[in-house]
Amino acid sequence: MASYGLAFSLDSMHEIGKPADTLSRLNLVRIGKPVNRAEVEAIAERIGDAFPGFLRSVRIVDYEPPTVDEIEADLLTQALDQEVGGHILGITDADLLDRSASDFFRFMFGCKDNRNHVAVVSTRRISTADPGRSIARLLKVGLHELGHNFGLTHHYSYESAGDGGYCPMSKGDYNRHGERSYKRSVIDGRGLRFCRACRRFLNVAHGQLA
Ligand SMILES: [Zn+2]
Ligand SMILES: [Zn+2]
Repeated sequence: MASYGLAFSLDSMHEIGKPADTLSRLNLVRIGKPVNRAEVEAIAERIGDAFPGFLRSVRIVDYEPPTVDEIEADLLTQALDQEVGGHILGITDADLLDRSASDFFRFMFGCKDNRNHVAVVSTRRISTADPGRSIARLLKVGLHELGHNFGLTHHYSYESAGDGGYCPMSKGDYNRHGERSYKRSVIDGRGLRFCRACRRFLNVAHGQLA
């Protein structure tokens, strides 16, 4: 098992309001250099926009792990929880593998660790030649995983999110789509705003954060 002796720097903070509880302060952790500085700042801003009143700050954290091609998601989320802590969305360019699902490793676009508040997304399989589309996909998968951190669950009804796309919590049947079609139909189809039902849940569950 790889050892994650990690060095990271706390180098910028997007203050949206006063800090409250763990979920309201997000650490957006750039693991290595999967995206450039301008891109991670744009992602931080969009995430803040998607959770108005629920995220008071999005802090960008640079984290320098050993370079790996693929990593067991569980190992990465545990390391982030221990080394950075709090509410986290990690961005990596390593393939995220899930060993719990079956006897063999399976990859994931993103995931969330249910034992803590750590979610991670991987650029590995969602990057395209179009940087705008790659970042949009990263953001959409990231919003989905952060939605889980706030207690949101999947829906398969393709609820409109009000900005013309599906709600980020929309989920398709991966086995029916296959990887390529899933990315184009489900991930690209999502918007950057949560649907009315999800917003209602956030208000009921986390309204005190606002
Ligand atoms: Zn999910
Ligand atoms: Zn929704």
